[in-house]
Formats: sequence, C-alpha cells, structure tokens
Amino acid sequence: MERNAKLGSTLGPLDRTCEGEGCGRMVGREVESLSTCAACKMAFYCSHQCQRASWGAHKEVCGTWDQLEQGLPSAAAIRQFILDPVVQEVFLSVFCDD
Ligand SMILES: [Zn+2]
Ligand SMILES: [Zn+2]
Repeated sequence: MERNAKLGSTLGPLDRTCEGEGCGRMVGREVESLSTCAACKMAFYCSHQCQRASWGAHKEVCGTWDQLEQGLPSAAAIRQFILDPVVQEVFLSVFCDD
C-alpha cells in the first residue's frame, strides 16, 4: 500500500516542463503545476490547451513502448502499467469527450 501511494506521488510532475508545442513552461517557475496525460500519465502539460494542441503528435507515442521506456523506471512498472485494467479503460475513454 505504501508503495502505491509512493508511486502516485513520485511520478508527479516535479521539475517538469510543459510538453505543449512551443510552450515549455516549467513547474515552480512559470506554472504551479502541470497536468498529466490522463492515458499515459507520462506527458505533462500546463493547460488543457497545451494538451489538446499536442495530442496530434502525442497520440503517436501515448502509452507505447517508446514512451514507456522513457517514462517508467523498470520493466516491472511497465508490466504493471500495461496490465492495469484501470489504465486500459482510461486509455480507451480519454479524449472522447469532445
Ligand atoms: Zn503549456
Ligand atoms: Zn499520453
């Protein structure tokens, strides 16, 4: 249980910059916090606008092995991510709220 709580907090957007195209706002400087991509939780954005603007490019790597290798620390974590039914459900339902 402790591990789960730790995962949730340490994978947060610390020392991160917005990945919105041409944005690059940094946490603790230009913005207070960043939101993560709801599907992969590994892309960080300062605003919904940035997330939307970047989705066209991000969807190519969102939740893929390319991104997992960069964003997660271990094979075990990757496996957990892939097999997590909640993640899969979110992955399928996100961005369908136009
Ligand atoms: Zn941004
Ligand atoms: Zn994503």
